[in-house]
Amino acid sequence: MIIAIDGPAASGKGTLGKRLAHHYGYRHLDTGVIYRAVAWALLEAGADPGDELLAVAAALELDPEKFGNPVLKTQKVGDAASVVSAIPKVRELLVNFQRQFAADPPGAVLDGRDIGTVICPDADVKIFVVADPEVRARRRTLEARARGEEADEAAVLADILKRDERDRNRPVAPLKPAPDAHTLDNTHLDIEAGVRAAIEIVEAVRAGKKPAP
Ligand code: C5P
Repeated sequence: MIIAIDGPAASGKGTLGKRLAHHYGYRHLDTGVIYRAVAWALLEAGADPGDELLAVAAALELDPEKFGNPVLKTQKVGDAASVVSAIPKVRELLVNFQRQFAADPPGAVLDGRDIGTVICPDADVKIFVVADPEVRARRRTLEARARGEEADEAAVLADILKRDERDRNRPVAPLKPAPDAHTLDNTHLDIEAGVRAAIEIVEAVRAGKKPAP
């Protein structure tokens, strides 16, 4: 089974993806980390994240061993990731890696922006996670502070809104729900309640009780 989870920045889709994968014994891929790794390769080299040639070279040299680098989690890298991810050739080069991950047994949960629309349009279950921007900014700020980083909530909110805008309006693979995605509003749910809501969606779809919207 393939479960596709999409949604805007800091909507909680990564945590839901990880927890769903654990629940079902599947593998989990946070696809944002792929674009973050490409972006970091450029930033580390002192290059502009919008530099197409260098971004394509970095995508060709993608090394999954580096996905655990904590610097990838930072706001600066997230922002640069939303610039490199708008380059069509970069996206094209990263499709096969994601599709292969999804296809390998025993099943997979992938989260990102275009999983249900482009990467796995035939996913068994598609969930589109939403949450109010202020709530997302609050959560992201607390996460950053918990990692020992300084974070200003207003700046985090501005970054989230800018990224959402860029991700929604790019011509290639924009952030949007697949027509057959089930929306999960995470605004007022804590982690446990969000996980329960996601499992309910998966179970209802599997039991044939939840037809595509
Ligand atoms: O989800 P995360 O915040 O880690 O993603 C970082 C950026 O990578 C996003 O703002 C988006 O531009 C890009 N991204 C994407 N497609 C995905 C996952 C992430 O374009 N499937």
